[in-house]
Amino acid sequence: MSIETMQELLIDELKDLYSAEKQIVRALPKLAKAASTPELQQAFLSHLEETKGQIVRLEKISDLVGKKLTGKLCVGTKGVLEEGSEVLEETEKGVVRDAGLISAAQRVEHYEMAGYGSARDFAKTLGLSEIASLLDETLGEEKNADRKLSVISKQVNQAAKRAS
Ligand code: FE
Ligand code: ZN
Ligand code: FE
Repeated sequence: MSIETMQELLIDELKDLYSAEKQIVRALPKLAKAASTPELQQAFLSHLEETKGQIVRLEKISDLVGKKLTGKLCVGTKGVLEEGSEVLEETEKGVVRDAGLISAAQRVEHYEMAGYGSARDFAKTLGLSEIASLLDETLGEEKNADRKLSVISKQVNQAAKRAS
């Protein structure tokens, strides 16, 4: 057992999130390229820029706690991103694929929301208010990205139904 304290648990969660964001920043350009609906492409590309900022935020947190966040693999993100790759293998370019990509991307956002929400609450509990507020800022962006995907899905799902 290497995690015994709440502080160590927070660091572990931060490492998980850091690995998650690093994987996501590599996946988003592929998702943007695979999408055909312009609004969806744009959503992926703007979340890519946001994600780069989230990595910077985690690096700032790393400085604040004086711990490196490297060296852990987020297997959850690896798994949900693999499901995104399955969508690409199983569909042709078009609106049906786009509907599948939105579903896959929302899995990623929800996983991140759970991670950031927990880490923020751990930081808050430990009285680390600056870290809590940085994590809360990213949580807000993930929620917003998820909402944006829900809005785009209304149009994409209708188009996918018509195309079938
Ligand atoms: Fe993120
Ligand atoms: Zn994880
Ligand atoms: Fe995200």
